[in-house]
Amino acid sequence: MYGNFQKYLSDELAAIKEAGLYKAERNIASPQSAEITLEDGSKALNFCANNYLGLADNPRLIKAARDIMSERGYGMASVRFICGTQDLHKKLEKAISEYFHTEDTILYASCFDANGGLFEPLLDASDAIISDSLNHASIIDGVRLCKAQRFRYANADMEDLERCLKEAQNCRHRLICTDGVFSMDGNVAPMDKICALAEKYDALVVVDESHSAGVVGPRGRGVAEQYGCYGRIDVHTGTLGKAFGGSVGGFTTGRKEIIEMLRQRSRPYLFSNSLPPMIVAAALETFKILDESDALHDKLLENVEYFRNAMMAAGFDIKPTQSAICAVMLYDAPLSQRFAARIAEEGIFVTGFYYPVVPKGQARIRVQLSAAHEREHLDRAIAAFVKVGKELGVLK
Ligand SMILES: *Cc1c(COP(=O)(O)O)cnc(C)c1O
Repeated sequence: MYGNFQKYLSDELAAIKEAGLYKAERNIASPQSAEITLEDGSKALNFCANNYLGLADNPRLIKAARDIMSERGYGMASVRFICGTQDLHKKLEKAISEYFHTEDTILYASCFDANGGLFEPLLDASDAIISDSLNHASIIDGVRLCKAQRFRYANADMEDLERCLKEAQNCRHRLICTDGVFSMDGNVAPMDKICALAEKYDALVVVDESHSAGVVGPRGRGVAEQYGCYGRIDVHTGTLGKAFGGSVGGFTTGRKEIIEMLRQRSRPYLFSNSLPPMIVAAALETFKILDESDALHDKLLENVEYFRNAMMAAGFDIKPTQSAICAVMLYDAPLSQRFAARIAEEGIFVTGFYYPVVPKGQARIRVQLSAAHEREHLDRAIAAFVKVGKELGVLK
């Protein structure tokens, strides 16, 4: 009986390709790093991974994972509350709480799950969720799973947030939710202002630190450190899949009663498998490394500054940001795709984004910097940008 459905899918897939929205994958045959090897043996410089601190192939993390696997085995074969908790999980939750200066932490299989399981256990139809319009898909899905009333404010627009807070004043509880760093522009949410409005209008504050943790703030501790908001943010969610080693895993960290309630009622925690010991041990090593020294974060900041300055000096139009995401504005959608394809031929991997991922007429190349990049990698990328920029008439 598959025939009709197969035709429907084939037509849909053809339409996706027709619209130029088909996502092809690059098959990498090396560890994730600044320089990667592809299946065909060719090499490329990688400027599109979330490997902000360059930890994805760090020897200490690899050793920690390997050692613990010999001692504690491969998998947990259980959810946390049945028989899937080792002392290691509790240690990692403690390490994350210390890193963010929070009271308690709960681990998930991913940040997608952390966000998916956050709202429904805490809020019901008498409450309000006030969400930034550019929040991550996992927040949008998490909000959909919850019966609370929904309010949406324009990206990082504090007047619009205040309007929502006023409209939601009759609700029992209000909760503001924002990404810490927005992945398309690389802009940082104005946490000091968000916290001030939350205090004025009696609302909780949730921030997803996936792109901000390890990156933003004087020591990379995220938006609370950046804006001096310790104690004013109720919940942070985050991933172990970006700056913190680039593997898998997510967490929610914050007020202890909130975390306690999530352990009782959060469905992705209750009904999905526990993180394997190797991931937990490597994540523990990650927080140890970050506690010992700020060298990786310092290097990331230097790389961001060097790259941005060189690109602006070359004449590119760069969005002003304080994160490791650098948006090179081209505005024209077909141009962004041609640019990304041409610069890939030069051995530089970046991502071209255009509508509907970004607003119409706002097409761009997104460059993600990493502590794994050496000066020579940055110089090669900048030279390729200039070459392709001249070729395609972006630069004079
Ligand atoms: C990447 C990302 C996620 C998903 O993280 P995973 O751990 O890979 O599921 C969630 N929220 C934001 C803002 C992200 O950037």
